[in-house]
Amino acid sequence: MRTKKVLAFDIDQTLNIAKTPIPDEIAKLLIELLPYYEICPISGQKFEQFLIQIVNPLLENGVHAVALSHLHLFVAQGTQYYQYYPGGYSDKAFQVSITSDRTPYNEKNWHLEYDYPLEKAEVEKLFRVLEESAKETGYWEEDKLAKGDEIIEDRHSMVAFSALGQKAGTEEKYAWDPDTKKRQEIVKKAIEKAPEFQFEIGGTTSINAFKQGMNKKFGMEMMLKELGVKKEDILYFGDMTQPGGNDYPVVEMGIDTITVRSHEDTAYALRGILGVIK
Ligand SMILES: [Mg+2]
Repeated sequence: MRTKKVLAFDIDQTLNIAKTPIPDEIAKLLIELLPYYEICPISGQKFEQFLIQIVNPLLENGVHAVALSHLHLFVAQGTQYYQYYPGGYSDKAFQVSITSDRTPYNEKNWHLEYDYPLEKAEVEKLFRVLEESAKETGYWEEDKLAKGDEIIEDRHSMVAFSALGQKAGTEEKYAWDPDTKKRQEIVKKAIEKAPEFQFEIGGTTSINAFKQGMNKKFGMEMMLKELGVKKEDILYFGDMTQPGGNDYPVVEMGIDTITVRSHEDTAYALRGILGVIK
């Protein structure tokens, strides 16, 4: 018997190798699950990254555009929420069955349902604080950046620090701070300088900074509200569920959580779920 209505996922290291598109295996499993569950990726990335990492691989693996109405994008840790309207947002009443319809996909049919951005002064302060903290701890790796790459990025409702930038190689990133100790040092400094913000360790080289309370707990609470479900209806997958990790707020909320080491673990669990429901 299916007791969950929603499968929610962290992205980096849970559905993919950090910052890369989800592998075909995960895409195929999600497509198989879409008729049964609301599928909710929630992660610190920008909307454009959600398209590259999740939506495009689903399309390449043959998802029907109409099924995307069951895919809910909780962008920037759920401070923005995008929903897909197969007939366009202006045609909200558009209803068709998942299996029969062949309505083509249109990127313009993603609609921003809500948005909680940071103010300009807050963004500027976080840029300054993160740079200073990384410099003071000796982890400001500007010399290792690819041309045109940035360490600190404005993600609208959060500021993201990626020690080696966005374009660094996966292996290089894994090797940089495998035990999170470097980032813990940077975070310690940053909290002293800007206690009104929260700093969370995520991915392989990242620190996410945002207003107090605007973490995954906020995003998950918005998810409950927007989807009209209860905590018990959700099963959450994440790789950073330890205290201080960016998935920990979900654990603290009392939502059922599966801790994974990688997308391989997630695939294993999803195959199990499909085995039970099909
Ligand atoms: Mg993760």
